[in-house]
Amino acid sequence: MIIQLQKNIDDNLRRQIVEKVNSLKYSTTEVKTQKGEYIVGIGKKEFDIRQLGNMKGIADIHIVSDDYKLVSAKWKVEQSAIDLGDGVKIGGGDFAIMVGPCSIEGEDQIVKTIEHMKENGVKIMRGGVFKPRSSPYSFRGMGIEGLQLWYKLAREAGIKIITEVMQVSQIEEMVEYVDVFQVGARNTQNFNLLDELGKVDKPVMIKRGISGTIDELLHSAEYVFSAGNEKLILCERGIRTYEKATRNTLDLNAIPVMKEKSHLPVVADPSHGIGIRRHVEPMTLASVMAGADGVIVEVHEKPEEAASDGQQTLNFRESETLIRRVKAAHEMLLSF
Ligand code: PEP
Ligand code: MN
Repeated sequence: MIIQLQKNIDDNLRRQIVEKVNSLKYSTTEVKTQKGEYIVGIGKKEFDIRQLGNMKGIADIHIVSDDYKLVSAKWKVEQSAIDLGDGVKIGGGDFAIMVGPCSIEGEDQIVKTIEHMKENGVKIMRGGVFKPRSSPYSFRGMGIEGLQLWYKLAREAGIKIITEVMQVSQIEEMVEYVDVFQVGARNTQNFNLLDELGKVDKPVMIKRGISGTIDELLHSAEYVFSAGNEKLILCERGIRTYEKATRNTLDLNAIPVMKEKSHLPVVADPSHGIGIRRHVEPMTLASVMAGADGVIVEVHEKPEEAASDGQQTLNFRESETLIRRVKAAHEMLLSF
């Protein structure tokens, strides 16, 4: 059960509602986000909404049968949109294209990528400064100095930043410089990290775990929301299957399924999803057709020289074609 509280409810009223819900053998979690206040009630018994009567302070009550509650579409019919400011939005009808390198490597690379983005009308740049690498000997990113440099150049150009946070201790030093925190596939169930991201007022995009189910991803999003941050985006980035011909298996099924189950925007990451440069474009277009609210694609001036994930990274020419086709595909989808 989700109880939406009235705006600026006083503490006394809130306590009375909590006590009433507890008396009905429901445990309660109080949630205060950027947009509202909620009480999540969990109990085994059938619940008769009339038992709460017309208690003062309650704006709305919803019975949500899913295990996850706040991210469920069962109580919030309209899709949530994430507003990054300056007219940049993800979801709720706004389609987002995000491009950029796997890793931020230096000023020249950032400047050239931004130039490429501006030429193609793309407003959100991806890039990692803290890189989760399978081998400890691989490049692990430029760290906070890289992010600060990137931020300076991106802000001058009116470009938004999405970048991965790997651990709790990085949140504070990063928060000023990011527009969207990315939670990587290796951290989808790092519940401490999710809890802490619930306390910041910056959007969070959570990637599906490498062996994670859709349900687990939705529960991870529930962690962040219930900790106080409802600016959330889900990302399908491919899962590990028995198939060896591709790096991962981009689960296109997950796109419509998650959009039905949740009110959160759903983004596809075909770069990691398939892991093969020449196949990134068709899978990106397929993601658009499957109903994604955005795509995130790895792009580098010289993929062959990229510090990481070059094998799945598009060059600027390929990226330009992809961006044009993605825009056309999305328009076509809207016109059906
Ligand atoms: C990335 O975005 O470069 C990345 C490491 O992604 P993932 O967590 O999906 O592997
Ligand atoms: Mn990568």
